Amino acid sequence: MNKKIEENVFWYSAKAPTLSAPLSGEVTADVVIVGGGMAGLSTAQRLREAGKDVVLVEKDFCGAGASGKTSGFITPNSEVELSSLLATHGPEKAKKIWGFVTSGVDDIRANIEKYKIDCDYQVQDSLFIANDKAGMKYVEEENETRETLQYQTRLYTDKDVQTTIGSSGYVGAVRFPNTFGMNSYLYCQALREILINIGVRIYEDTPVTNIRDDGVTTTGGNVSAKKVVVCGDRFIPDMGVLKKEIYHVQTFLGISKPLSDEDIKKIFPTDKMMVWDTDLVYNYYRATGGNRVLLGGGDLIYTYAPNVSNNTPRFKKRLEKYFKKKFPTIPIELEYIWPGMLGVSKDLLPIMGADEKLPNVWYVGAATGLPWAAALGKYAADRILNGRNEYDADFSWKRKFVIGNKIQTLLTTPLTYALSHGITEYLG
Ligand SMILES: Cc1cc2nc3c(=O)[nH]c(=O)nc-3n(C[C@H](O)[C@H](O)[C@H](O)COP(=O)(O)OP(=O)(O)OC[C@H]3O[C@@H](n4cnc5c(N)ncnc54)[C@H](O)[C@@H]3O)c2cc1C
Repeated sequence: MNKKIEENVFWYSAKAPTLSAPLSGEVTADVVIVGGGMAGLSTAQRLREAGKDVVLVEKDFCGAGASGKTSGFITPNSEVELSSLLATHGPEKAKKIWGFVTSGVDDIRANIEKYKIDCDYQVQDSLFIANDKAGMKYVEEENETRETLQYQTRLYTDKDVQTTIGSSGYVGAVRFPNTFGMNSYLYCQALREILINIGVRIYEDTPVTNIRDDGVTTTGGNVSAKKVVVCGDRFIPDMGVLKKEIYHVQTFLGISKPLSDEDIKKIFPTDKMMVWDTDLVYNYYRATGGNRVLLGGGDLIYTYAPNVSNNTPRFKKRLEKYFKKKFPTIPIELEYIWPGMLGVSKDLLPIMGADEKLPNVWYVGAATGLPWAAALGKYAADRILNGRNEYDADFSWKRKFVIGNKIQTLLTTPLTYALSHGITEYLG
């Protein structure tokens, strides 16, 4: 059995992953895509729908990376709030970047609706919630920014926050619509099936060992192609490139035993919502189908740890404690808990661009969110199809970061990323 399937990831319990046969021998294609996560699958979909001959190679199974382990919050605010973008990029660019990530939300929704994908699709508003007065400052900033840039928004203060969330542990929140929750593993598995049906050749259990300008070498054989799109997210540095520009953060995710309807109503008195709080390493939760509560978070040490940690008992305790403090009467018990790593850049915006020596190779990484990954995949395809380039500079790995590569060498990568993210989030 594949080692990934043995992990205690709740989403896998719905259905074992289906695996295509590994690559063996020589194949050719117009485009070869490395990685069967949200970015790779989205690239393949766009290219194939435009008539290209596409091969996708995945080292495990589609959705085995970050994309199949997520909390499934489909919102443009995956890691970067709009107010941070406004502060760092100004109104015009903030809107441009927001438009990009929002297109990812729309594309995922469109696929679910068009193909009737069975992935626990839960239409829920987003709620960014303040733990204390200091956090309220960020909530108010987010609300003001949304008003200024003319996005729908609603502010809750100390007086009325309990009309939307059944806890006295918060001092306010900002709420916005057009977001949803889903089981992203089932989504990836369904999209894989759709792609195979429209003629994408997918080889799983097929690690790529070398990337060339005219294709890739894998453990089982070669793919020759005119273009190569590497959608490896946090694994890209393992391929020997972008080692300073892409790192990872780790979060822990738990799923509770089913709760009663009354308990769910106590947590969400009016509508179910996707909630995250104002801590730097934030806590987040939402209701899934079957009345379970998904609850996630981390801490500074584990967030930036170099390797995946299996210290799930520590986080089971920590997350349950957080929830019990906020909702003392709800009998929460996490039945499943797992760690997961996702690729990030120093400023939490994605990294993309051509290889310095291999002009036909395009990297997509540090997506920091499923909508980002979906939009980046489509963009990579559009670049090939029609030369799209309006975001090349915004997400280029050559852009300027607050902490440059030389200082990073002195500070070490984990510390550089922790500091850079603190600066991005709080000083904007
Ligand atoms: C626990 C957790 C919770 C999250 N929650 C959310 C959330 O609620 N909302 C949200 O928007 N985002 C969330 N994210 C972030 C989101 O999952 C990622 O940003 C997104 O999935 C990245 O997609 P990707 O396709 O770029 O990367 P991945 O899904 O990691 O895909 C990369 C793929 O490349 C494959 N690969 C790597 N190396 C090779 C190789 N040598 N050869 C062949 N294949 C290779 C991997 O196996 C993998 O399948 C979460 C992430 C985690 C880990």
